[in-house]
Formats: sequence, structure tokens, C-alpha cells
Amino acid sequence: MSEVRVDPNLARYASRASALRASEIRALFSVASRPEVVSLAGGMPDTAALDLDAVGSMLQTLMAEDGARALQYGGGQGDPELREQLCEVMAAEGIEARADDLVVTTGGQQALDLLAKMLCDPGDTVVAEGPSYVGALGAFQSYEAQVVHVPMDAEGMDPGQLEDVLAQLHREGRAPKMLYTVPSHQNPAGVSLSLERREQVIALAQRWDVLVVEDNPYGLLDFKGEHHPPLYTLDPTRVVYVGTLSKLFSPGIRVGWVMAPGALRDKLVQLKESADLCQSNLTQALAARWLRDQSWHDQIDRFRELYRNRCRALTDALAAEMPPGCDWSQPTGGLFVWARVPEGIDTGELLAKALTARVAYVPGRAFYADGSGARELRLNFSFCDEDRLREGVQRLAGVVTEELELRAAFGSQLGEDER
Ligand code: PMP
Repeated sequence: MSEVRVDPNLARYASRASALRASEIRALFSVASRPEVVSLAGGMPDTAALDLDAVGSMLQTLMAEDGARALQYGGGQGDPELREQLCEVMAAEGIEARADDLVVTTGGQQALDLLAKMLCDPGDTVVAEGPSYVGALGAFQSYEAQVVHVPMDAEGMDPGQLEDVLAQLHREGRAPKMLYTVPSHQNPAGVSLSLERREQVIALAQRWDVLVVEDNPYGLLDFKGEHHPPLYTLDPTRVVYVGTLSKLFSPGIRVGWVMAPGALRDKLVQLKESADLCQSNLTQALAARWLRDQSWHDQIDRFRELYRNRCRALTDALAAEMPPGCDWSQPTGGLFVWARVPEGIDTGELLAKALTARVAYVPGRAFYADGSGARELRLNFSFCDEDRLREGVQRLAGVVTEELELRAAFGSQLGEDER
């Protein structure tokens, strides 16, 4: 028998590193990116829909006009001109922002990481929707915070359940360090918090004195023309706002930002400097020029139209193909549909069969810190064209149907084996 060798360096990890588990999404990427697999697993915007020639000539002009500065270090808070431009992006959401309150980060992801680093000691509590964005859960876990979920329905986080969670935590003497939420076109559920619920969530945060972290990558990518005010506008002193250009322009430039009141902003600048000194000046300058010189509102409209059509293609295909007992969200915008299969099927276990059938998705358990989500899965519609989406759903429906037939034929034995 060959000896199993354990890497001795495993014992050197700090506890916060040991606690991190490989993201189910990352583990999937190598298989899901094979050309024969229809990947509904990723979260990629369709960057081929950008005007790449325009971006190319912007880069050329940038080098000719301002190359030495673009290739230099920058300040820890981020390029002042870019911060001014980002205020324009937030103005499109109805936010009156001041460039001085912003810290530019390496995507929204670094903003979440720095916020968790700033706020969470080991064992601290973070309240978040269930399901929640995987990358946020990873950031909270890496600082050894405990995530407590608040269930969602078709209108987003349920304020009644939020109230119960906050009251229970209070009884246990656990004051949450933050309430993390993606109120608009959520990843992974695709749904949005109604205006009434936004007001209720803020009122509860005020009553229990909880800091709210509003993560809003998808606010401008709405499909129904319904625009709800960001939570930030309801209480600017209590809400830290996280934005990103990843879904509006490009995730490759890694430009995100965080807007936080006074002392939080100052600490975030220090944390940003200790993490990576400063944001890339080159991609900041590119982003600033894109926002200054290109008709970015039109580009966002093009993305919205593209994703709205793809979302419809995906949900129509689900309605036509999926067996009875499955259901899924009706996205208000963004990139994702959240689906559920019948009781007894575990989407984590089903994935191997799905990959064999050449379709990939993300199993629901990745989106919960507490191990729930076994019957759920996330489907992305922003990257594949409509024909591929239909093909993917056909393959997925085939796998789920086959699993149900197997269970119907051998159900009692399966049950016994499981016992
Ligand atoms: N928040 C949410 C809800 C997301 O879905 C994502 C990306 N998928 C991010 C933050 C981070 O994205 P980025 O770092 O590219 O801005």
C-alpha cells in the first residue's frame, strides 16, 4: 500500500487560515471551463459585449498623455479623479456621495475583506441573508466570525425573521458586528428588497444599534425598471456602502470602493495601505477615463438588455424542462437564478452527474455558513448565449429527472441504505 504523506506545513497554518475551505466554485472552475461543458456555475459578466476597440484606444491615449503617472504608485485612499467619477455612478443610484468618503479597493471583494478585518474579532457575530454571497462568507470566516443567517423570500430578507434573529442574539449577549446584505438583485437569489422592507431593515438596525454593510454590485442592472433606494440613503450614518465596477465595466480592472462614515473611512485607508499600499494607478486611470469619456450609461443599458433576455431564456427553459417539484426565483436583475430541486436530492452530490452530462452549477450549500442549502443551486445567465443556456437547462433537467426516476424505482432501498 502506498503511504499517504501529509504535508507537514499544514500544521503551520494560523487558525484563521485553517478555518478557510476551498470555495466550491473554485474547485469547479477547472472542469466547468472545458468547452464541452455548459457552465451555469460562474459569475462572469459578458465582457465581449464591451466596445473593446474604444477601451484599446483609451489605453493608448492614457499612455501618451499620462503614462508616467499611471505606471507610478498612488495614494492609499485611491485616485481623487476616479473617486469623483465614482460619485457619479452612485448618483445614478440616487446617492449624494462625497469623493472624500470613498476608499478605492481591489474590487468589492477587498472592501469586504478590509471591513471584516476592521470589525471582527474571532468569535464575533455577523448577520447575513441566507443564502449569501460566497466571497463575503469567505471573508467573514477568514477573520473567524460566526455568520447567522436571516431567511429570504421573493422580496429578499424577511424583516420579521431579522427581528427574531436580533432579539435572540441580544438574549445571548452577542451584539452583531454588522448586518451584511445585498439588497438589490442579490447574489445568489436574484431578488430585491422592497422599499417597505428596506425601511423596516433600517429601523431594526437602528433599534438594535447594528452597523449595516450594503453590498451593491448589481443595483444598476435591473430588468423591471423598478428602482429602490439604496439602504445608504435611508441612514448614511449607519450604512457602509460597497460598490464595484466589475459588473458595470470590467472585473479585470479590479476597481471597487467602500464609502464609510468618518472614523471607519480613516481606518479603512490604513488597512488598505497595509494590505497592498495602494490600488493599481493604471486601472484606476483607465476606469476614470472610461467614466469620463465613454457613454457608460449606454453600456449599462446594453448589459441590462442582454442579461434580461438571457434571464428570460433561462427561466423559460426551466419552466419547459424541469420536472415537477422544482422551483426557482424570478430575478429582478443581476446575474443569477436561485433554484430548488425536490426533497431528497442533494445538489452537492448531484454535481458529479451533472458534470458528466456536461453542465455545471454551484451547489446551494456554498452560500450558507451553517450547512443548509442541500436542495438548492445557483444558475448564472450572464455569460452563455441564449442557445447555450437552453442547452444547459436541458442537460440539467435530464440529470434531475433521472435522479428522481432512480429514487422512485429504488427509493425504499435508498432510504434503508441511508439509515
Ligand atoms: N459582492 C457581491 C454580491 C458579488 O456578487 C461580487 C462578485 N461576484 C462581489 C461583491 C465582488 O466582486 P468584485 O471584487 O469583482 O468587485
